[in-house]
Amino acid sequence: GKTLSAAHLEKLNEGQRAAVVHGVGLQDGGIAGPLLIIAGAGSGKTNTLAHRVAQLIIAGADPRRILLMTFSRRAASEMAKRVERICAKVLGDKAGILTDALAWSGTFHGVGARILREYAIELGLDPQFTIHDREDSADLMNLVRHDLGFSKTEKRFPTKGTCLSIYSRTVNAQAPLDEVLRANYPWCAAWEKELRELFSGYVEAKQIQNVLDYDDLLLYWAQTMGDATFADEIGGKWDHVLVDEYQDTNRLQATILTGLKPGGRGLTVVGDDAQAIYSFRAATVRNILDFPNEFSPVADVITLDRNYRSTQPILAAANAVIGLAKERFTKNLWTDRASNERPRLVTVRDEADQARFVADEVLENRETGMRLKDQAILFRTSHHSGPLEVELTRRNIPFVKFGGLKFLDSAHVKDMLAALRFANNMRDRVAGFRLMQLLSGVGPATAQAALDAAADSANPMETLSRFPCPARAQADWPKFVALLAALRSGASGWPAEIGQVRVWYDPHLERIHEDFEMRRADLLQLEDIAAGYPTRERFLTELTLDPPDATSGQAGVPLLDEDYLILSTIHSAKGQEWRSVFVLNTVDGCIPSDLGVGTSDEIEEERRLLYVAMTRARDSLNLVVPQRFFTHGQSSTGDRHVYASRTRFIPASLIKLFECRAWPMVAAGAGPHVGPRQLRLDVGARMRGMWR
Ligand code: ATP
Ligand code: MG
Repeated sequence: GKTLSAAHLEKLNEGQRAAVVHGVGLQDGGIAGPLLIIAGAGSGKTNTLAHRVAQLIIAGADPRRILLMTFSRRAASEMAKRVERICAKVLGDKAGILTDALAWSGTFHGVGARILREYAIELGLDPQFTIHDREDSADLMNLVRHDLGFSKTEKRFPTKGTCLSIYSRTVNAQAPLDEVLRANYPWCAAWEKELRELFSGYVEAKQIQNVLDYDDLLLYWAQTMGDATFADEIGGKWDHVLVDEYQDTNRLQATILTGLKPGGRGLTVVGDDAQAIYSFRAATVRNILDFPNEFSPVADVITLDRNYRSTQPILAAANAVIGLAKERFTKNLWTDRASNERPRLVTVRDEADQARFVADEVLENRETGMRLKDQAILFRTSHHSGPLEVELTRRNIPFVKFGGLKFLDSAHVKDMLAALRFANNMRDRVAGFRLMQLLSGVGPATAQAALDAAADSANPMETLSRFPCPARAQADWPKFVALLAALRSGASGWPAEIGQVRVWYDPHLERIHEDFEMRRADLLQLEDIAAGYPTRERFLTELTLDPPDATSGQAGVPLLDEDYLILSTIHSAKGQEWRSVFVLNTVDGCIPSDLGVGTSDEIEEERRLLYVAMTRARDSLNLVVPQRFFTHGQSSTGDRHVYASRTRFIPASLIKLFECRAWPMVAAGAGPHVGPRQLRLDVGARMRGMWR
């Protein structure tokens, strides 16, 4: 068959090329045996995967029969664009049309949602099911917890968030509850019996209300694949299934893959065990390590050892950090990108200074011609960027924040979405409860009663419109019912109807929130976002599964051609690269996060997290070490300032690989500023204020 252009093939190294052409030219349509590419950061795994998909299309594979799964929708759409660029060289104009047909690409959860909708009736699901995000799920868990009386009688019963985490982990790891409790939540082990009861109540509530949570999207899909006829039919949709970042998949995802491609024929998975950072969500590195055995003896394994991303000093430091790991399959990488610039370890007094240092450096880089977009600030958890966001806003440096605290988590956005969701599925109690509470004169008891009545009724709209609500609700109730009726009739059409919701919601917004003007701007932005989706249902599904990124202040989403700095959690930075990378709070107590309770496996995962962060950098890397930082209620330390020291993952033996400096630079003779200083600014108070 046809192959990639010579120019493309020449650029690839031998291992990459072998992976790209694997199976091409085979008799039966080029569907090859199972292939694993396992290799370190920046070795071109994702790039190779894109070339492989392009190669398949060029050789005549039907793009509609290619399933490409990555860990975020952003990563999937970037991959699709890359495939198109590569195809264009060989196919010319036809490339766009063909790669548009690469419709089956996305995350496991996103693809699962589509599959389940398609087969809903046959699976006994109502096709109008709504999807609960984590917060909704926790709310529902709480309702059930309350109904069962656990929260009242048992003061020390785990919180709704903990209950949901335990449930989710049990489901995703496909492990027995007692095992999960013993291994991961020993302090909750005494509640096993109650938790069992709670979880079964939770599952029942979801079914009655016709909602699925995130985990259900995988769980139901995996269950479906357990049935031979479904497995044949669903697996038969695709000739090729390709998965990036395979090290961060869990048991359910592996079950789904083997269900789709039982002998592994047509299956390609790609990953790096040294970058496994999602075990807290039950991901298991065993999936990638066991792949060759799972499909023995037909599986082919390709390793890559050349890094194309980072300069030699950066790579040397990253290699050294991961070199101290207890266990690892992938080997050290090499590069020919020489440089004299070692990565820097920069000591600053506190988080306020850290923010100033980063802002200074970012602007300085921009002076030398590096766009803001070529620079990224990485941190462990979302709230660590608080002081930096303040500083950037003060200096008018635009930024986009990936991961962590989401636009969609804000109460006013959730209220709007609840209206759309409830109109779609009137059995969704979390949405209905949320909406009804907005109405003046409607309390929890009334809302419950109304929801019960609607749930029991064949015509819930009719029931709600006649519902005997309290006199004080006489003003708001009819308007609410009218809105629902309008949404359900679909008369205004999408996306105009979201404007209708906003008009209905506006007086509530003004009554509930003092800062309603700011929030109103968010809602207008939500309307803009909505306009990008073809239908209400697609909007709700995709928004829940993969929310848009938060942006600086109230500026709204910057236009694509504008320049802005990237702020991201390390977890969300997976797979990406920037010319200059800053890692905040590279201190013990942050990376690794919790010194008190970390098991050795957990500590090892934190080491890999630092490795992921360091290997995002192409030309310049700054690890910042504040001498004081603020911990946010981590279990062993509580909410307070602590004196911190450099992360244990860079012990004295590795220091020579870094350029160490203090900031601000001190005048000659003044001596380095080490040790605790006077508190100049209570960043902690400021940060608590920000996130309240
Ligand atoms: P990660 O583990 O971080 O996901 P990766 O292994 O997926 O990394 P890529 O993101 O695919 O690596 O590639 C890293 C960089 O190297 C990219 O800028 C890519 O364009 C470049 N690259 C990959 N292969 C080659 C090659 N053969 N020649 C030149 N550049 C390459
Ligand atoms: Mg990659």
